[in-house]
Amino acid sequence: MQSALIIHSRHTRVYAEKIAREYGNVEFLEVTRPPTEEVLKIKTDKDVVIGIGGGSVIDTAKIISKDKRCIAIPTTASGAAVTPYATVWGREKTSVSTEIPVLRIERDIPLDLPEKVIQSTAFDALAHSVESFWSAAATKESREYCKKAIGLIMKYFRNREKTYLLIEAGNLAGQAIAISKTNVIHASSYPLTTEYGIDHGTACGMLLPFFIEYMDYDGLLPLFGANSTEELVGKLRKLSDFAKIDGFNAEMIAGKILKYDKINQGPKKIGKEQLVAILKKAAGA
Ligand SMILES: [Zn+2]
Repeated sequence: MQSALIIHSRHTRVYAEKIAREYGNVEFLEVTRPPTEEVLKIKTDKDVVIGIGGGSVIDTAKIISKDKRCIAIPTTASGAAVTPYATVWGREKTSVSTEIPVLRIERDIPLDLPEKVIQSTAFDALAHSVESFWSAAATKESREYCKKAIGLIMKYFRNREKTYLLIEAGNLAGQAIAISKTNVIHASSYPLTTEYGIDHGTACGMLLPFFIEYMDYDGLLPLFGANSTEELVGKLRKLSDFAKIDGFNAEMIAGKILKYDKINQGPKKIGKEQLVAILKKAAGA
């Protein structure tokens, strides 16, 4: 029997124990926050590294596994199970290359995630899909993934029992960004996370409607069944309920966003003035 390091979150501990029965010698590691530089130093002598949980758990498993076999069992829509990189959070956000893990879908995982976590991950996957769809680096294949992902997420919002739809959508959107990468929304979200401690999906979700409004990209409308950008923005704002940021400094954040070249991979160029306006709306400042 193979030995395994099983990485999980508080929510997935019970399921991790179930998976453990398939292995000999098992070690568990509970992850409570996104990977930091410390995780890069962790080594394992186990044959397999398994990550069961959301983006933080799976990114941690991808980093620790290095050249060992890595199995990802996603429980959110982060898409981390299908991308060849992991995000490391320090004072700045960095990305490290990893192998793409082996994806394992478990339909019977009880997903009793808090409403806030579901909102965060659903909007992260929507941001992946929207950015990938309008990206200058999009291909026919990546756009197909985006269409399907958005369809599933909107289906989930019509029937919130079906959480597995979000996981499927997240994996499709992850395959899309593995091709096109993300652009302006993700670049803008990173300083909200590093400066204000806002979790990744929430940061993307706060920004998403306002970047859609600015880009005013007709190609997106049929994917959401909307007739105008205004209608789409209204729809997304009705589906979400993100808190405001107290003491928000839009100029400082815009300065940090401008360091990312990828902000101009979207359908419309953007500069500091436009970023500040969008940030103020998103933060409710
Ligand atoms: Zn993301």
